[in-house]
Amino acid sequence: MIQFPTSYLTLPEALDQMPENVMHCRKTLDRLTDFLEGDLDTDERRLVEHHVSACATCRQALEELRLTISLLHRLPKPKPRPFVQPNSNDDAKPA
Ligand SMILES: [Zn+2]
Repeated sequence: MIQFPTSYLTLPEALDQMPENVMHCRKTLDRLTDFLEGDLDTDERRLVEHHVSACATCRQALEELRLTISLLHRLPKPKPRPFVQPNSNDDAKPA
């Protein structure tokens, strides 16, 4: 019978995941942004894909991050506010 360190027991996944998987989760989560931006090399991509295919927690995190990034890319660029426009002399300058 393997005794897990107490810190692992605070994670809900600790019941059905080995500590190694928790380590992999951390590494995977650290790489998700690079994964989505295509900044990982082939080996790292494969590791992330493999882990995400087996881990619902990281898969959900990946989907949320993918959605966030796609929304950010779709957003129109925000217009500058009037008071930061260099040519907006109509507005009274602060005293
Ligand atoms: Zn995971």
